Amino acid sequence: MQDKGINSTFKKIIYESSEMVFLADDSYPYSIFYANESFEEEIGESLKDKTLVGLGLDINAYIFKEELILSHKKKDYSFKLELPQDSGSNYFLFYKGREVKTHGLPSKKEAYQFFTSKLDLIAIGKYDHLTYLNSTVLPVLGYEAEELLNTNLCPFIHEEDLDRVQQIWKTHQKSQEVAFCEMRFLGKDGIYRNLECSVQFNPETFFLIARDITNRIIQSKNDKKLDSLLDKVPELTKSGKWRADLDSNELVLELATETILAKHLEKGVLTDLFKANFLNQIRESSSAVNPQQEEFEGEIQISEKLNLGYTAFFPDKKRTLVWGIIWDDSLGRKIKNELNFHQRLWVESPEAMMIVEPNGKVFLTNHQMLEFFGFEKDTEISHLKDLNSYFEESDQWSEWIHSSTLDHSITRFTTLLTNEKGKQLTLEVAAKNVAFNDSEYISLSFRNISEKIKLEEKVEASSNFLMNLTEQVPGGLYQMVLNAEGQMNFSFLSKGINSVLGLSSQEIQDFSDISSAISKVHPQDLPQVIMSSVASARKLEPWQCQFRVKSGENNQDYRWVLGAARPQALENGDMVWYGYLTDISKQKEFEAKLDEARMAAEKANQIKSDFLSMISHELRTPLNAISGSVYSLFHDEHTENQKSALNTINFAVDNLIIMINDLLDFQKIEAGKLTIEKVPFNLKNIVDQVLKGLSFHAKDSKNKLELHLSEGLDIAVKGDKTRLSQVMNNLITNALKFTNEGNVDVKIELLEQEKNKVKVYFEVKDTGIGIAPEDQEKIFNDFDQVKPTFSSKYGGTGLGLSITRKLLNLMGGKIGLDSDVGKGSRFFFELEFDLAELELTPPSKVENSTPSFKSLHLLMAEDNEVNSLVLGKIIKKWGYTFERAHNGQEAVEAVKNGKFDCILMDIQMPVMDGFEATIAIKKFSNTPIIALTAAAKLEIMERIDECEFEGFVAKPIDAAELLKKIKEVIAEKSYKA
Ligand code: ADP
Repeated sequence: MQDKGINSTFKKIIYESSEMVFLADDSYPYSIFYANESFEEEIGESLKDKTLVGLGLDINAYIFKEELILSHKKKDYSFKLELPQDSGSNYFLFYKGREVKTHGLPSKKEAYQFFTSKLDLIAIGKYDHLTYLNSTVLPVLGYEAEELLNTNLCPFIHEEDLDRVQQIWKTHQKSQEVAFCEMRFLGKDGIYRNLECSVQFNPETFFLIARDITNRIIQSKNDKKLDSLLDKVPELTKSGKWRADLDSNELVLELATETILAKHLEKGVLTDLFKANFLNQIRESSSAVNPQQEEFEGEIQISEKLNLGYTAFFPDKKRTLVWGIIWDDSLGRKIKNELNFHQRLWVESPEAMMIVEPNGKVFLTNHQMLEFFGFEKDTEISHLKDLNSYFEESDQWSEWIHSSTLDHSITRFTTLLTNEKGKQLTLEVAAKNVAFNDSEYISLSFRNISEKIKLEEKVEASSNFLMNLTEQVPGGLYQMVLNAEGQMNFSFLSKGINSVLGLSSQEIQDFSDISSAISKVHPQDLPQVIMSSVASARKLEPWQCQFRVKSGENNQDYRWVLGAARPQALENGDMVWYGYLTDISKQKEFEAKLDEARMAAEKANQIKSDFLSMISHELRTPLNAISGSVYSLFHDEHTENQKSALNTINFAVDNLIIMINDLLDFQKIEAGKLTIEKVPFNLKNIVDQVLKGLSFHAKDSKNKLELHLSEGLDIAVKGDKTRLSQVMNNLITNALKFTNEGNVDVKIELLEQEKNKVKVYFEVKDTGIGIAPEDQEKIFNDFDQVKPTFSSKYGGTGLGLSITRKLLNLMGGKIGLDSDVGKGSRFFFELEFDLAELELTPPSKVENSTPSFKSLHLLMAEDNEVNSLVLGKIIKKWGYTFERAHNGQEAVEAVKNGKFDCILMDIQMPVMDGFEATIAIKKFSNTPIIALTAAAKLEIMERIDECEFEGFVAKPIDAAELLKKIKEVIAEKSYKA
């Protein structure tokens, strides 16, 4: 203590002081070497290190400061540096102080710490200069605090802010209120910083806290800029913001952006890959941006099909940040497209249209409208009055507009237009008022109705014509409806109905009820009328009925009416008949007469037919007798004269037989009763037989008859061998007949052969008298001959070729003829046959089993004495024996009692006819039976078939034919057996 030069008086003062007093060295570590009791109690005793450093003081900051502020054990103390007594030997520090009551305020130390903190810029000043400034000034503005203290601050404040700041200073200094203001303050680097300040004024002093908000301002400016970009996005476009940091590869997408992108992405998910791709695209496009350029536009490829546009800018100088907005204008594009489409539809509509304003000013026109007027497509029409000269009534348009403004529905007008090209059109104009966005327009559409008008005129004319027709036709037309409820009514009746039903025009008008029509029908005809109507309705078939109706109200006479109608079922379930009624009373009368005449004719025909049958039958019997007798006489002894006479008789008889046969065939064909058989036969055999049969005739007429048969005709075919023989016979007989000492060549050729069909060509060619061209068609007519020849040397009826042609037609062939007068004729035809599967009876087999025909025993059933005599003689000539039965019954008995090789059965016999007898015999015997008949009636031929006769020979009997037939049936029987 002594060393420090402290005397006892001073010690006493210290000791007695009510304040805390301590003395410390004036050099590090400033040890407290003396303190009074008060200090010791409060602080000293609890100090580990009794130095100023131990007191927790920042030596550098506080040493030798006038006031020493310290905190100890949560209490604040203020010590003042007192001057020692002897200031000349001042080698220690003398502090005197007391506890400072802060009442919740920060302790001095805290306050100190606060002021020295780097939170914000804290300053204290007077008027326009600063007296205190904390160290934050360095990082914020780059100055040391001293550089700004006690200087005028105005030069540091941005000139644009200065007035405002000075104003605040002035006003708030007076009011002593807190002021808030922003200002740009010049930094040491020459760049202004934005400071946000709050200032509290005391009359002279002010306290200021300032914060650097430069970054915030820049950020908000950039944000505003980003927002302002949105203004550039068209309406209907969805947009969203994005921020990319190219340095850190960070991409921040606003929710709206995410929504836009996700909508177009697969599965609606924004993957990291997509974001990286997004960033890359931004990086690429931003690197291409001109360095002077702040803002740029680009497109991001979202998918193969879709690119979305964006606008971006660089918010920082380094251009590592890129901020932008992306937009999805697909909806806008769609709407625009639709708009274009609608506009196109309107402009190119097939309807001619224009939109005008109520004053007649033209707003829009479409192509079709211009075309109506004969204008080019790009013609502009400014006012309706410009079109005046084209219309018949020049200012009719004002009426269209006027009426459409009065009435908001569509009003229509007809007008006549002569267009630019001189074409006249009748137009229908439709006008309608259209209000849009507080403006009124009139929509006009033009339709060319020239054709329609013409058509209407035509329709009217034809309708008049039809009406006239309905009224003029004899009889009446009607339409009748049967509705779903079963009610039947006339929906239309023509005037003509009154003539049919005997009604007045008035009655016709009221005559719609069907029952009044029904009441007019004759009671006997009513059921038929009703039944046929019901059937027509059910089957939807045309209705036709003849019935009687009362001819007038009071008249009880009936007239015949023909009704016919066609039904039609309507969709609503109704049934409609369109029909007519016509008076057929006269026709009925005529029909009745016709019926009578027909019946008389039929009767006459029957008589004729019967007569023909009868006469031919009756002719056949004597002819039979003559023929048989001649045959037998030929075999007796006779003189040359007799022989010549016999020949003449034979010729005449043959002719007569042919004639009768022709007549019968003709009758049969005429009656449609002749049917063509389809039975297997051998083609070659038949032709051979025909020629063989005619060889005598050929010799007789001194003609050379030759057969030319092509290969492959020895075949079995299905057909009618009898009719084919007849045709051949006819043609060859004619050829022989009209040729003298010449040639008759018969040619048969196989034309075609398919699987089961053959086509055969037949030809009969002679070197005879020939036929003149004018007769060549005639000779095929019934009973036509070139010259009547019946009595001449040729004989004949003129029926042969007619029958030939008819038979060939029935067989599916057609006869042809070539002929030269004096040179000869050629008749030819082609026939098609089905091949027969059945092998024909091999001749060898027949021969094998053929019994010897040397001696046969026959049964002759014949009632006619002459016939029996002739036939008997013939049989004897053959060297056979026979028994005679006079009728069928005798025949049956004879077969029962005797054994015969063959039975010759006449058909027409008394007691029991040939049919009955044959049926009876067939029951117990298989003896072959040959029918002998004039076969006058067709029915007889049919019955012969039915009764299963083995054979049939027509009367008058050709003896040779009969013998052949007898042998045939016996051989057949033995073959079968
Ligand atoms: P007809 O019974 O008279 O022979 P056709 O109908 O068979 O009847 O013949 C009619 C006529 O055709 C014969 O009368 C004859 O004038 C003529 N005619 C038919 N065939 C020949 C032929 N081959 N040569 C010349 N004329 C023929």
